[in-house]
Amino acid sequence: MSRPTSAFIDLSALKENLKMLSELHQKNADGSQSVGAKTPKIIAVVKANAYGNGAIEVAQAIESRVDLLAIAFAHEALELREAGITKPILVLQGPHQLVDLSLTFSHNLYWMLHTDWQAEALSAFFAEQNKSSQTWFKFDTGMHRLGFGLDDFDRVQHTYKSLWQANTVVCSHLACADEVIQQHAQQQIDKFLQNVEDSDYPRCIANSATHVRFTNARQDYVRLGIAMYGSTPFTAEDSPITLAPVMHFESQIIALRTIPKGDAVGYGATWQAKRESVIATVALGYADGYPRHAPTGTPAYCNGQTIPLVGRVSMDMLTFDVTDLTAVAIGDTVQLWGDKMPINQVADHVGTIGYELMTRVSARVPRVYK
Ligand code: PLP
Repeated sequence: MSRPTSAFIDLSALKENLKMLSELHQKNADGSQSVGAKTPKIIAVVKANAYGNGAIEVAQAIESRVDLLAIAFAHEALELREAGITKPILVLQGPHQLVDLSLTFSHNLYWMLHTDWQAEALSAFFAEQNKSSQTWFKFDTGMHRLGFGLDDFDRVQHTYKSLWQANTVVCSHLACADEVIQQHAQQQIDKFLQNVEDSDYPRCIANSATHVRFTNARQDYVRLGIAMYGSTPFTAEDSPITLAPVMHFESQIIALRTIPKGDAVGYGATWQAKRESVIATVALGYADGYPRHAPTGTPAYCNGQTIPLVGRVSMDMLTFDVTDLTAVAIGDTVQLWGDKMPINQVADHVGTIGYELMTRVSARVPRVYK
């Protein structure tokens, strides 16, 4: 039993992207060879089911090529450990409850701490267990979402002395690294570096966009997510890197009909044909993670051409105007996004970002690895 809808996940593309990103520190922003640049340790961000690509399969494919894996919530580590992944895992939001800490040693977790209660709890836990693991401290340099204040740097070190070892990492996260205007990101980087410059602790500030664009943010560690999955965090025109798409989200045409000019398509009869039109129905809908609010004109790819979405997105079906296709038949493949239809192009039409489209591909869609 099957349905003609899959997210094909290209693990070779994933490795190719990772390799390119891992070698980026060897180049300056202008492409010239960088002399004496730090080689950052690579953290592969595999939270949210590896951005929809499948956390276990992604982790298995790249585990030997990275230094750490990162997830948002402690429970995301469970399936990775059950699948035999052994690389240390960094929990980006730290513990949410005391009980989370019980996974520290059994699951080899490192905690990124952002509040006092977490630091107090972890200090007490380490004391009770009479052992410790690498600790990460997050500082708020201007995103104002999570983190200790930078003016708290000395207090945090002093108060939680037992957590500060030579390998304790100080980190931050940037709000605007993917934007054309670089001032906000540069200010955050400068602020971070000024505050930590007198300490020898390892540093980590870069996500994908920061790593690509800001050479001085490539510190001891970089946290890579979206670029590894083959979607540029920048606009297509503005992207300094070329990536290989990892997810190819595809389905098939299951019905074709010709409708007269003036007839409408789908729920609410929201789209009316301005000419006699050929409508293709595709076996995929919002229950699969395709955004219901995708407007008329959202592009997909079929038989070498771009086809526009028409009518409302249903739970299990989409309708496209295929009148202009030179050839079309039931059973033809439609790619919603992937190598033939850039995910960011779809995201622009829908008013979102590639991250959201990828992470929302639902559990109903089989992931097929190649
Ligand atoms: N670091 C943190 C704290 C994050 O929340 C994320 C993703 O949301 C990342 C790194 C990875 O970011 P990106 O996918 O843009 O590389």
